[in-house]
Order: sequence, then C-alpha cells, then structure tokens
Amino acid sequence: MKVKCILCDKVETIDDDTLIAKRLKNRPIHTYMCDECHERITKKTLARLASREDGTHLEDK
Ligand SMILES: [Zn+2]
Repeated sequence: MKVKCILCDKVETIDDDTLIAKRLKNRPIHTYMCDECHERITKKTLARLASREDGTHLEDK
C-alpha cells in the first residue's frame, strides 16, 4: 500500500503484510511517518528531555 508521511508529505510504498500497514488500515487517518522524520522527531524529543534534565539540575543547585 502507499502511505504518505504526515510531516514531509513523502509518499512511500510499504508491504501490506507489515504491522504498520495493518495498523494504518484500521485507522481513518493515516499517521505514517517516514524513517527520516521519525529519526528527526526522536532526536528532538531526546534533546528536549536532556535539556529539561539540565534545567532541573540547575534549579537544584
Ligand atoms: Zn517524512
């Protein structure tokens, strides 16, 4: 099936038998994210968590 990344609108073809494909079929809204964006989001999330931890650390001082 064809899926479109919600972030960069890149269209990719994924195997119908994969877990992602089955999950997307059950949802009215396709929430597919390509590997590139997924990686970017993960890095952002980790960076935010890291900075939050730094902030807490500073407040404790
Ligand atoms: Zn993307």
